[in-house]
Amino acid sequence: MKLFRISPGTDLDLLADNLWDGRQEGLQSRVVISIRRSRIATVQPRGIESTGAGAQQMRLEGLTVLPGLIDAHVHLALDGIDFQASLDRWQDPAAREKALGEALRSSLDHGLVAIRDGSDGEALNLLARAGIRTGKYPGPRVVATGMAVTKKGGYGSFLGPGTTEPASAKEMIAGLVHRGVDQIKVVVSGLVTFHRYGEVGKLEFTAAELVEIVKEAHAAGRPVMAHVNSAAGVDLALAAGVDSIEHGYFLTPAQLEVMAARGTYWVPTVAAIVNRLHSAKKEAYPEKEIKIIQRTVAAQQEMIARAHHLGVQLVVGTDAGAPGVYHGESYLDELMYWYRAGIPAAAILRAATVTAAAALGLAGELGQVRPGYRPCLIAVRGNPLEDLQVLGRPEMVFIDTP
Ligand SMILES: [Zn+2]
Repeated sequence: MKLFRISPGTDLDLLADNLWDGRQEGLQSRVVISIRRSRIATVQPRGIESTGAGAQQMRLEGLTVLPGLIDAHVHLALDGIDFQASLDRWQDPAAREKALGEALRSSLDHGLVAIRDGSDGEALNLLARAGIRTGKYPGPRVVATGMAVTKKGGYGSFLGPGTTEPASAKEMIAGLVHRGVDQIKVVVSGLVTFHRYGEVGKLEFTAAELVEIVKEAHAAGRPVMAHVNSAAGVDLALAAGVDSIEHGYFLTPAQLEVMAARGTYWVPTVAAIVNRLHSAKKEAYPEKEIKIIQRTVAAQQEMIARAHHLGVQLVVGTDAGAPGVYHGESYLDELMYWYRAGIPAAAILRAATVTAAAALGLAGELGQVRPGYRPCLIAVRGNPLEDLQVLGRPEMVFIDTP
């Protein structure tokens, strides 16, 4: 993979054999994408390009250009290999910066130009975002939540300090906004357990508490991403008006209809559950639990297919940092789980680019190859609409520098 960093002074014309612009059903052939002052200036058929004086030309023979990919749910502070070792590193400034750098680099190497971080207990995702802004790390763009709003004593103590009553949740949100978070992450329910099919950790907040949390975040102009599983949990989250349902295992078709009508994003994170079976640090799951995991995942895939048909705003997110889910490396896994659920490749790609950009608050900047957008692009050999696997090894990644 070759990384090209495009500075505001780079005048570049990309002569691409094929283009997928973020919305099409098929590819456009033979186009020239002109990049000026850190923006895509024009996208035109080859042959009518006016090579501006001094513009550098790059021929991308046999390659397909498409918008850079986006992972809408990661945890940069966790490596997906060893949970405890990740937590131990948080207290060691040199080790944690090295790990953040590696997570970011691996994301970029796999074609991710933006990620949304679902929080960590030390708000290291803010450190990562700052490092990208200063040029310490080459990218990708990080949309940060800092620490999660969690219930004290409930699930997610590694994601945030925990709050007790609504007043302290409000205080916490004010503090996060002051630190410049882009979105607010809230933990509405516990995890999916594998002891019994359909079992989910308890609800963390009451309906009234969650309404207050969402109101507070929205008053500060911050969208809310809700970690939530179970039909009861998703009901609570939708009633409170969250912007995205994260995970959403065991949600119902009726809830999908509400989400489609309202434009609520769904980030179903299939890899978060199934990849633990292929984790490098092998955890021995009893046969009974493996069956429950497989059934849980099959149910999720069925709901993704329904969501697609209902027109829900589906968004690709992996939960990278969870057991067996590696930054960048596991992204293709998630795409393939959706593909095996029967979602057409073009729809998966939209969920990975244009819709993901909107969920991250970056519509108009990322997710499409159109004039005015940032030149955050990838080039792959072959046609990703016919074979998603080509996305696993991008030949080139283009990213704008601050
Ligand atoms: Zn997560």
